[in-house]
Order: sequence, then C-alpha cells, then structure tokens
Amino acid sequence: MTTRSGRHFLQIPGPTSVPDRVLRATAQPTIDHRGAEFAELTLDLLQRLGPVFGTGGPVVVYPSSGTGAWEAALVNTLSPGDRVLAFETGHFAGLWRAMAERLGLEVDFVPGDWRRGVDPRAVTERLAEDRTHSIAAVMVVHNETSTGVTSRVPEIRDAIDEAGHPALFLVDTISSLGSIDYRHDEWGADVTVACSQKGLMLPPGLGFNAVSAKALAASARARLPRSYWDWTPVLEANERGFYPYTPPTNLLFGLREALRMLDEEGLANVFARHRRHARATRAAVNGWGLEVLCADEREYSASLTAVLLGEEHDADKVRQIILDRFDMSLGTGLSRLAGRVFRIGHLGHFNDLTLAGTLAGVQMGLQLAGVDIDPAGLNAALDLLRAE
Ligand code: PLP
Repeated sequence: MTTRSGRHFLQIPGPTSVPDRVLRATAQPTIDHRGAEFAELTLDLLQRLGPVFGTGGPVVVYPSSGTGAWEAALVNTLSPGDRVLAFETGHFAGLWRAMAERLGLEVDFVPGDWRRGVDPRAVTERLAEDRTHSIAAVMVVHNETSTGVTSRVPEIRDAIDEAGHPALFLVDTISSLGSIDYRHDEWGADVTVACSQKGLMLPPGLGFNAVSAKALAASARARLPRSYWDWTPVLEANERGFYPYTPPTNLLFGLREALRMLDEEGLANVFARHRRHARATRAAVNGWGLEVLCADEREYSASLTAVLLGEEHDADKVRQIILDRFDMSLGTGLSRLAGRVFRIGHLGHFNDLTLAGTLAGVQMGLQLAGVDIDPAGLNAALDLLRAE
C-alpha cells in the first residue's frame, strides 16, 4: 500500500468528513443504556433534533442506514396493496420505489429524465385523476444524490393540496437535512426520512423518521408487517429517555456534538454556506466549459454537483486519476449515469479552502485525463469565494 501524508479528501456526497469534535465525542466510554445518564442524553437529543427537521413532533432515531429509515416510513404508514405515487428523479428514487414494490405496495412511477426534480404539475394531475383517493402516499426524494437535483418540496405540498387529495407525504431528506432548507411541519410532510452520514456530519449508522400527527394516526391502521421498525415502542420508551433495544450509544454522543455545532453556526447560516459553495462549484464547472447535470436552475442542489462529461470520456477514469494522484474521492455515476458523470460533494463539515482544494484537484484530474477544459474554471470559483 502507498503511504499517504495529509488528510484524505472525502468529497463524495456522503458519507462526509466527520469533524474532530464529533469524532472525539464518539470516542467516549459507552454508558449503561438503561441508566439516568443515558436518559438525559436521549431527552436532550430529541429536543435538539426537532429544529433540524423543522418539527415540533416526534423524531424516531434508528440504528440503521438511510435504507432502514425508508423502510420504516413505509411499513409504519401503509398496508399491503396500497397505491403510492413516486417519481423517477434518479437512482435513489428508483431504489425506494423498488423497496415499496417488494413490500407489496402498488407504485405509480412517473417517468423522469434524471435531470429534473418532481414536477409539481404532474403531482396535481396524477392526484386529481385519483377521484376515489386510492393513492395512500406520495413519495418524494428531496435532494436526489445521484443527480444533484433538489425537488421543490413546498410546491409539491401545494400541488397535493390543490388536488384536494388526502395522501400522506413521505419525503427523503437523506442528502439535504442539515445542508438545505427543509421544514417538516411548515411544508406539511408526514414522514421525513434522514440519516447520519451527510449533512449531520456523523459516521454512517443512524436513520431518522420525523413523524406528523397524521402519519401517527395512519400507523394505527397500517397493516404492513413491522417489528424492529415499529414507531410505537420507540416512542413509548423515548418518553423516559430510553429505547426498546440496545441503542448505538456512541453515535448518539456524536449526534449530540454535531447538533451543537449546527446550533452554534445557526441553521440559516449553514444553508447559506452550502448554497454559496454550490454556486462556486457551478462557476468552476461552467468555467471549465463542462455541463452541470441538473437542467433547471431552480433545482440546483446546494449539497452536491453532478458534472456531465462528453461521451468520449469516462468519468470513472477521471475519478480514479484524482484518487491516485491527489488522494481525493469523488462520487461515481450511479446506474444509468455510470461513466457519464462524477459528483462533487460540498456538504457537511466544509469551508472555502476545502472547496478550493477540491476544485483544484478536480481541475488537475480533468487535465490529466485529457478532458479539454478551460483552466479559468478554478479561478471563477475562487473569484466567487473572494467576492461573495
Ligand atoms: N436516499 C438518498 C437520497 C441517498 O442519497 C441514499 C444514500 O446515499 C439513500 C437514500 C440510501 O441511504 P443508505 O445508503 O444510508 O442506506
């Protein structure tokens, strides 16, 4: 193995790099999860989580990846054979759809071109056609991590309301929570799905469901089999600060520290920082003469940018060169985008010089791979960082 000096640049759109403060917090001795100190930790965490989701309601925390939190959202609210409306915004929307089908749900999947988010007009149209209200839920991925496209959740909410449809609104915020403005209560989401390893700056291992009163009521009727994912025993135990199983104590120590950090910076500032870094990244991409995959400027992701290469170049080869030469990991193109795009993560524990280093590495890698770019791209990003 080659010895590497300095720190690896983990610029994939999650897992993101974990701040030293959070690493240190996770490295404390594990405590008794049935003792008073643990109860204090849980109650404090549950208080702190609400504002990050924009909710005054409960947030269920699971020892899981995001996929587990997806499953929890479905099995707690739906019954076998229920119809759900989903949208082909990219790889992750497709995986969530496939899970819903495997669980025995009937999915109306609205096709998409992987360059745009959910079209609110399509939501109204599809729901207005459903006069018998047989669609039980609308499933939306807020920020499609495979494409760098952010769907306009408030407009989708309005579209559901315009159709006068009672469907539940299930939203995946896995690569937006803690990076991109999101408001569970205000935007009328029923279940918000999230996980630890992106905007929350933690290692992988925690999944979340923020739950509305309407979703809780639906869970009392829902008949999909559920056991581990069942909200009820978790919510009951949480009231006293406990869990119905052994919780991931050290990740929860880390979560408390990460939530303190978000609180210290202020969520509005965190979101503005992400938007600014995304603008600088797009300035570089455009300056290089390359194309951002997202085709609608209202939907540019603030947490990652997918860069489209011409047919003559293999994006994975560019990524490999950048990894070998500069010790930086970039996101690969997923499923139908394999080899066509690479993805730059600019989320989580991140600052101007992290971005400058990232874009410098990308520029040099593109040049080494023989992609014909204008090296003014990097300066365009630096100019923006200096000026804004
Ligand atoms: N949804 C989105 C938008 C994601 O980006 C991911 C993973 O990157 C997932 C779901 C699945 O999460 P996990 O890999 O943690 O199970």
